[in-house]
Amino acid sequence: MRRHPELVVSLFLDKLRALQSDAAGRRWVFVPYDQLSDATGPLARQDPRTLGIVLVENPWKATRRPYHKQKLALILTNLRHFALEQAARGVAVRHVVAQGPYRTALEPLVSEFGPMRMMSPAEHELQTDLTPLVQGGDLELLPHEGWLTTAEQFRDGAGSDPPWRMDAFYRHVRRTTGVLMAQGKPVGGKFSFDRENRLSWKGEPPAPEPPTFPVDPIKAEVGRLVEKRFSNHPGRMDLHAVPGTAADADTLWSWARRECLPTFGPYEDAMSVRSRNLFHTRISSLVNIGRLLPRQVVSDVLDADIPLPSKEGFVRQVLGWREFVRHVHRVTDGFRDLPTGRPPIAKIPGDGGYNRWKGRPWAARSLWNDPDGGAQPSSLGGQTPLPPAFWGEASGLNCVDCIIDDVWTEGYSHHITRLMVLCNLATLLDVSPRDLTDWFWAAYTDAYDWVVEPNVLGMGTFAVGDIMTTKPYVSGAGYISRMSDYCENCDFDPQKNCPFTRLYWAFFVRHEGHLRDNPRLGIPIRSLQRRAMADRRHDVRVFSTVRDILFGGGRLTPDNLRDPAG
Ligand code: SF4
Repeated sequence: MRRHPELVVSLFLDKLRALQSDAAGRRWVFVPYDQLSDATGPLARQDPRTLGIVLVENPWKATRRPYHKQKLALILTNLRHFALEQAARGVAVRHVVAQGPYRTALEPLVSEFGPMRMMSPAEHELQTDLTPLVQGGDLELLPHEGWLTTAEQFRDGAGSDPPWRMDAFYRHVRRTTGVLMAQGKPVGGKFSFDRENRLSWKGEPPAPEPPTFPVDPIKAEVGRLVEKRFSNHPGRMDLHAVPGTAADADTLWSWARRECLPTFGPYEDAMSVRSRNLFHTRISSLVNIGRLLPRQVVSDVLDADIPLPSKEGFVRQVLGWREFVRHVHRVTDGFRDLPTGRPPIAKIPGDGGYNRWKGRPWAARSLWNDPDGGAQPSSLGGQTPLPPAFWGEASGLNCVDCIIDDVWTEGYSHHITRLMVLCNLATLLDVSPRDLTDWFWAAYTDAYDWVVEPNVLGMGTFAVGDIMTTKPYVSGAGYISRMSDYCENCDFDPQKNCPFTRLYWAFFVRHEGHLRDNPRLGIPIRSLQRRAMADRRHDVRVFSTVRDILFGGGRLTPDNLRDPAG
């Protein structure tokens, strides 16, 4: 393990040294990048004066994929502030910089400190990395106390075998925990207020502006490190938008409770060019690294005086969907173990289309060929690479271009934009689900394998078939137009010539055989069968033209998609 040149003179290390306690005689815990909390596991129970923690900064991990600079800044800032916060309460902190898998950083420390403990990793990639240490008795895995539900609750609620359904799991968890239940019945008479939560947003009530956060010297130093060491990574870095301390996490959560949650539910599915988040809380990037705990946010929301559809909508996301996807990822071994057999496995991590966009490969290949690059299921057969539009080349589709701009500006867009615009377009174009997953993993600050793979392979692209969702989530322009204001400033007209609608019908033309018997797709399949042959021919032409233009990095215009017959 080498020390980074940038760290030789480091304000962070100076501060850490100044706070350090005597490390002798401590019991050591490895705290990975996504467990930055002292309210769970040994850190919550053990006397800080007897506790040592190991924190690893890992350029090997950071360069495995073209991660957004904002994501690197978020993780590094929080990791360093967490180190200082723990040192300040008397915990001995060993901070190391790795140049390979995490086990290469921990092995020398095991020789020094003896066997270590950690809460079970959430990411499959980290689990695989650390398996040799666990099997050798050098690392003891403790239960991960950040989750809200158990394997038994998943099995009892969703079943032992697929298909698994979130609704069944969620209802079971509500019943067994008593959350939003009264006398055995769901509060408000039903388990879900999803149907009420589908308003579009016309500008009222005003969408709240997210808070900004101070750029303290620790964060500023991380910013310089990211710009120097990771200068080839994509995305804009805005340190004012990075919550980096425990106090910043509290600030964001207070803002979310006050400004977002009372109005969250009804506008949960709305999208707007005027607000990146609308009434979404934006806490996922902090929840997924442990800076905010699911149990805390759910408890706070249950105590909040807010309308029930908003309260239930938030609880369903955290206690329902977030837990559900983690269990599905766990029981399928990261989608390597599927009812249809073992899908192909990528030998190395994909770059999500970076190579195609930039015209040069992403980073030098690592000496380490493990962990692998993840499962590559594709139940609909999509194998086309992701178009450069996802990296910021203008597509001419205003909805897509606005959301992509949001993503490369801040590493964030809310879940409906992810599902109903970006995944929708990729699915309609038969893009490789793995390529899209790798792109989301790199581009979004809240993406880790256990959440991004279920969301993209499982839900967004239907790549694992119906094991966790009932149908592909595809739509034409009607849905986007109804739920957003993107179409108002688009060169295309959602009623007349928007390619999304043609792509939608061409999708069903290509996949009719596969999807014909799906009970949730009866309406579009019957409509397809009634669709005039001339329209069907033009649908297929539009699909080919859109695909050729976008994959060539070009911009679509109404002219180049005009129907020669009309
Ligand atoms: Fe998107 Fe079509 Fe609307 Fe343009 S018209 S914003 S491409 S849905």
